Amino acid sequence: MADTFDIGLGNSDFKTRKIADSDFVSFWNKQAKNLSWFSSWSQTLDWQIPYAKWFVGGTINACHNTLDVHQSTKSDKTAIFWEGENGDSRVITYGDLFIEVQKFSNVLKSLDVKKGDRVTIYLPMVPELPIAMLACARIGAIHTVVFSGFSAASIKDRIVDSKSKIVITADGGYRKGKIVKLKEIIDEAIKDIDFVKHVVVLERTKNKISLTSKDKLWNNLMNDASDSCVAEKLDSTHPLYILYTSGTTGKPKGVLHGTGGYLTHLYSTFKWAFDIKDSDVFFCTADIGWVTGHSYVVYAPLLHGATQVMYEGAPDYPDASRIWDVLQKYKVSIFYTTPTALRMFMKFGDDIPNSFDLSSLRLLGTVGEPINPEVWKWYFTIIGKQKCPIIDTWWQTETGGLMISSLPGLETLPLKPGSGTLPIPGVDIGIVDENGLDVPPNTKGYLVIKNPWPGMLLTLWGDDKKYENVYWSKYKKYYYSGDYAKKDDDDYIWLLGRSDDVLKVAGHRIGTAELESCIVSHNDVVESAVCGIPDEIKGEVIIAFVILKNGITSSDKLEKEISNKIRHDIGAIATPAQIYFVSKLPKTRSGKIMRRLLKAIANNETIGDTSTLEDSTAVTEVKSVFDEIQKVIKEKST
Ligand code: ATP
Ligand code: MG
Repeated sequence: MADTFDIGLGNSDFKTRKIADSDFVSFWNKQAKNLSWFSSWSQTLDWQIPYAKWFVGGTINACHNTLDVHQSTKSDKTAIFWEGENGDSRVITYGDLFIEVQKFSNVLKSLDVKKGDRVTIYLPMVPELPIAMLACARIGAIHTVVFSGFSAASIKDRIVDSKSKIVITADGGYRKGKIVKLKEIIDEAIKDIDFVKHVVVLERTKNKISLTSKDKLWNNLMNDASDSCVAEKLDSTHPLYILYTSGTTGKPKGVLHGTGGYLTHLYSTFKWAFDIKDSDVFFCTADIGWVTGHSYVVYAPLLHGATQVMYEGAPDYPDASRIWDVLQKYKVSIFYTTPTALRMFMKFGDDIPNSFDLSSLRLLGTVGEPINPEVWKWYFTIIGKQKCPIIDTWWQTETGGLMISSLPGLETLPLKPGSGTLPIPGVDIGIVDENGLDVPPNTKGYLVIKNPWPGMLLTLWGDDKKYENVYWSKYKKYYYSGDYAKKDDDDYIWLLGRSDDVLKVAGHRIGTAELESCIVSHNDVVESAVCGIPDEIKGEVIIAFVILKNGITSSDKLEKEISNKIRHDIGAIATPAQIYFVSKLPKTRSGKIMRRLLKAIANNETIGDTSTLEDSTAVTEVKSVFDEIQKVIKEKST
């Protein structure tokens, strides 16, 4: 029996779900009216499996909805409290943002960027990043943001894939006190590409750079630009951006999102899940280079005219207290982060967050991976002081916005640590077997989405075939998410891990998430990852990698305790054949555990065999983790 927590914000609009369930198309039709449209649509949904067009015939502009609409009421309101890693700070109002974005829109036009052109943006977490994105949206160019931690090779792949005419970057970016020389990386990435005509360079760190004939300085261009640019009237289905997935399960996929449906999804979910109010200070720790940053740093908060904190650097720089210091300084009321970050904060101990005033917090959120119940309880107690509801939000780059989440802004439902609770209204999620039939409660199955939803991707950029294969070939009528889940007796959904990662031991299928959460519930453990390796007798055996809390050392006793815990909580079948104590785990650049790499290590493959890890900087980082783990495994087997 899972623990439940009756905590909410007292909202009780249960009707919304009923209306949504009875006719999801009319429901979304009504939600879309919360946005500002230039002209209305003639058809709410054109659904030609597997392609959905929302609000067909309507015209809209994403930038207009995030900035122009607020100018008469909120031009002096803070849009962004920006905090630099080195202690710099800036306060940017809706009025400031409006001027900067219009200027940069004119800069883009002066560089011959037209509607439908792609613009690659490779910037650190500075306000110019959302400014550049919104300027693209304003003139109908398609932005493609590449996380500023990526190497020349992977950025080159993305520039070639999107055929961007221009690239926007900076001299450098701060990360853990060091300067990452972004401009040099771009020089390397585009040296053989002649279709890139211009590179716009923002001077963030003022490190020495050499300029080529393609390079133009951001400030020079902005000085000459007019601050008035009318937003283009774009079709609702006009592409807003291309964004690559995290690459947890394989090579990243270039997801293409549209405009009207995507904005409708974001507007609605930000209201329902985050319960956004005019007085709130929102803080999402995601880098804008990932979908969480696109949707819930850039578009959703600005659609609502909200105030938010944007932080440039590493959350633990210069020390483990930094993030709590930022929360206290800006009196953050809504905080949204990842399980991986929470596990790191937890590892540093309770004293650090306890020494800060976090009383402004009223709602907490998490995204990106299943949250272990133990970590959920820590978040709830130590950070939220047992007064903040937690939203555990399941979604994907492909879904555009939240799909499963509790909705404190709409209704108060009891929370169960480790469950995202229910799908959002207007979204039909099923848990099905191999044949696409619903499985009974408490049975594991594949998470599918049965109806199109407004934030749904348009396709994979330039590759409809791949889009059809990846998401629509396993079940012809349902969107295949690639995740493994179950529903409990209350219809609450529990994410159990990736369907590729499912362990099959002696014919039983076990999700990675439940096993890892069981291990993390041991008092001395902070993080864990499990994977299966081939075994002659059982087909597959489980091995577990475990990170202990600071100050705890590994021992045979501890190993026994963990094994016994698994035997007791899940069953003997799930007992790992080996438990390895390590100090780090291989992760994607967005912080997700890559079990496929653990599997490769355990199978004694070299890192070169894991060709899907396409980023060389990541390879260097992962290589040291890889070497350590290999050593631990070797020591144990001798
Ligand atoms: P790739 O598709 O390239 O392998 P990825 O799936 O990690 O990478 P994202 O789109 O960033 O790329 O992540 C979506 C995935 O993250 C989901 O499919 C799910 O596995 C996981 N996820 C996100 N939020 C949650 C959550 N709240 N609970 C459990 N899992 C989550
Ligand atoms: Mg994915």
